[in-house]
Amino acid sequence: MKQETNYESQPHSEETKQKPAKTYKWLTQAGLVAIALTLGFTAYQLAEPDYISASAKDSTPEVQLGAFPIITPTLRWGFAIDTFSTVEFKIRNGESLSDMLLAQQLSTEGINALVKNSDGVFDFRKLQAGKSYTVLTHGPTQQPMYMVYEPSVFEYVLFKLSGDYSVERVEREVETRIETGHFVVTSTLWDAMVGQGHTYELADRLEDALKWSIDFHRIQENDEFKAVFEHKYVEDKPAAAGKVQGAYYKSGPKEVYAIYYENGEYKGYYDLEGRPLKTAFLKAPVRFSRISSRYNLNRFHPILKKKRAHLGTDYAAPHGTEIMAIGDGVVTQAHYAGGNGNFVRIKHDKVYETQYLHMSRFAKGIRPGTRVSQGQVIGYVGSTGLATGPHVCFRFWKNGKQVDHLRLNMPQAKPLPESELPMFAVVKDELLAKLKDAQVLEAKTENP
Ligand SMILES: [Zn+2]
Repeated sequence: MKQETNYESQPHSEETKQKPAKTYKWLTQAGLVAIALTLGFTAYQLAEPDYISASAKDSTPEVQLGAFPIITPTLRWGFAIDTFSTVEFKIRNGESLSDMLLAQQLSTEGINALVKNSDGVFDFRKLQAGKSYTVLTHGPTQQPMYMVYEPSVFEYVLFKLSGDYSVERVEREVETRIETGHFVVTSTLWDAMVGQGHTYELADRLEDALKWSIDFHRIQENDEFKAVFEHKYVEDKPAAAGKVQGAYYKSGPKEVYAIYYENGEYKGYYDLEGRPLKTAFLKAPVRFSRISSRYNLNRFHPILKKKRAHLGTDYAAPHGTEIMAIGDGVVTQAHYAGGNGNFVRIKHDKVYETQYLHMSRFAKGIRPGTRVSQGQVIGYVGSTGLATGPHVCFRFWKNGKQVDHLRLNMPQAKPLPESELPMFAVVKDELLAKLKDAQVLEAKTENP
């Protein structure tokens, strides 16, 4: 994974940009003098608080005062945060914006003004109990000056607790970096990725890119994955995984590529020849599970204690794991029936049907006649009916006969049209070059 080292934090808002650099210089010098006089922190705190421009940081000439160090104020929410005292609170259950402001001893007029000024800026009914907010106070009297609430890492809302009682919503600048990764499977893909400090979210997206081509239940030790992906950063900190642009999988001699391509009506993952990877059926109805029993005409049944053909594939997964429809279709059955327990049956077309057994419960709205799409959650793993533990018994019907879906060769999809291939080649070549360069990172030991 490539890390850019020179990234500078950007100004948070238009307002902070427009403030002159003067204030900052004055503050810095005040701070320096304060330290020089060893009155330090107190004097610094007494400096008039104001917005500090982040862009001013870049334009300020370096000032060297003898042996004294240069002080760079810590910027937070557009403020030189050292000039305030900050107190963090947690929103209690049922607490309203007015309650929060009242706790800061604001006047009724002030509270009303803030509630009014929130209109169209921030819907205070969306304040979430349990989330924290910060009050910035100033001076020896600890006068509350601002209140800051962060709905997410991507933005914050700034309530001015005096003067014009303004309410401002500031979107933080999001930087999207293109990164690469190379993962060698030790036990699972997740272990390999999380061991390098990546999130489950990214593992999920990588699986999404390859889910039509790879049966993730058959991944083995030493299989390799590579990915070119978008990674969103806020103030230089990783904030969210973005799209996987390209993916590669290698297992022994087998290699699979997924190239993301989007142009007009064409959108999705393609193989190197420009054939869409998306097929009519997913490889499995559950993620993050293991196959506990395969389709087998001569299986010894663990409960019945006798030989009985197993006409499905069992996926063992924790109770409550989501079960997905492997393809578009219409639900024909969804009820409880003896050994099958709670089950759903889906008709995909004239030829194919699928069935999912032993569910703990059905997903909302799943009943005969419901139209479902590929990947849609239809129920949850359980052990209703004849089952020793939580799993989904998955059955695949072709022309009314149960077959082993793992051995089924589905017809290949048609490639992109001739006219689209030159454009596709450009995207592909760029991604292939990046995939080739993807490096395995040292495992980060601080991760579990
Ligand atoms: Zn089964």
